[in-house]
Amino acid sequence: MRYCFGPVPSRRLGLSLGLDILPDKTCNLNCIYCELGRTERLTCRRGEYHPTHEILAELDNVFTAGEIAFDCITVTASGEPCLHSELGKILAFARERSTKPVVLLTNSTLLNDPQVRAEARRADLVLPSLDAARERSFRRINRPARQLVLEDIIDGLCRFREEFSGRLWLEVLLVAGVNDSTEDIESLEKAIKKIGPDRIQLNTVDRPPAEEWAGPVSIERLGDIAGMLGQPAEIIAKFKRKDICADLPLLEKEILKTLKRRPLSHQDLEELLGNKAHRMEEALKAMIDSGTVDLVRVKGTTFYHLSNPQPL
Ligand code: SF4
Repeated sequence: MRYCFGPVPSRRLGLSLGLDILPDKTCNLNCIYCELGRTERLTCRRGEYHPTHEILAELDNVFTAGEIAFDCITVTASGEPCLHSELGKILAFARERSTKPVVLLTNSTLLNDPQVRAEARRADLVLPSLDAARERSFRRINRPARQLVLEDIIDGLCRFREEFSGRLWLEVLLVAGVNDSTEDIESLEKAIKKIGPDRIQLNTVDRPPAEEWAGPVSIERLGDIAGMLGQPAEIIAKFKRKDICADLPLLEKEILKTLKRRPLSHQDLEELLGNKAHRMEEALKAMIDSGTVDLVRVKGTTFYHLSNPQPL
């Protein structure tokens, strides 16, 4: 599959069938924390970067086959999905063809465009981000394309909130020493109050960032910031680790039980099973050697899945 990936376990959404609608890496921001690396194509131009008919045909095949279980369809991109000029058509198609909620991830920068807002309204749930409400911090953390103005972005978010009847969960990603000062949080608090999202979700760096020096904010500081925002904010939590026996056969059994439900990346398995990395490697290697487990590479991530799904 070229555009669909997963399903992958998501902290916020459960089991998410992803749809990546842009080529690497097309964005109008160049965030210092981006896990995709630095932006190669920094642009605000909307266009049909991938042919819409191909994206829809692939999605149609997945729905028709009906073999994959998932909780939602997440329209995302190796960049900013609202840059795809047929976003509205893609969202509408996903909603028509599936009973599962359709989710849109966006960096919010194009929501001051009425056309983009009209298209984004076709999603059931929109997860926009806003990392800073002070121009200087915005430029430091998001390194936007020259024509983007923070005030317009916040205004676009406010307008979208007024027009959109679905759920809106605003994500704020905090980087230590960049956008986590008291002044930054006070400005964010004012902006968030104006926007009125259904949820505020605080996040920090937890995967290799575009810039090595972009470091995470401590959990204690995130807690303080959640309290400073003046309205309920949740810290997006990782999957809880379960302690399981490190004995290899038992570990293999536990992995098989998990893979029976869905394919998982190495990191997902570590987070779900909570065992030490070297034991996990050992168990996975034994299962691959015996032909029980296969690997598949999707959008730069390796996933493990059962070679022949069977009752355990
Ligand atoms: S908006 Fe998203 S894709 Fe674009 S640079 Fe920032 S984190 Fe990366």
